[in-house]
Amino acid sequence: MRIKKVDYFRKFRAWGSIYMNQYPHEDPSIFQNNLEKVITWAETLDLPEEDETDVFCGKIWRALPEAPEDIIKAYGYVQIDIDKSYCLSRLLYCGEELRTIPCPEHKGRWGFIRDCICGDSGFLPND
Ligand SMILES: [Zn+2]
Repeated sequence: MRIKKVDYFRKFRAWGSIYMNQYPHEDPSIFQNNLEKVITWAETLDLPEEDETDVFCGKIWRALPEAPEDIIKAYGYVQIDIDKSYCLSRLLYCGEELRTIPCPEHKGRWGFIRDCICGDSGFLPND
């Protein structure tokens, strides 16, 4: 999937803005601050204006060991959520935008629903 650099980071931020709403027991600002730190650092890297999603992910991944310690720490906080997110994966690898219409039954709650058109998202597909 080819993606523009601006869209790659825009989609990361869009995902981050809704992600913690799914977990109201945690302080969303901690997650969002850590994610924003990593994104802001990654934006300073020498990245193409447009390329395959994997190229962006790979270049950022390979640059991380050389990143300042606070970035590595921030990445450690958000990494598992990035890795396991079907939502982020759809945004980056399938060209989707954030879904906006809640499923009538699952009402926007994320889960592992396999017998509904909303899939794991709790939202109806955009098209
Ligand atoms: Zn549903």
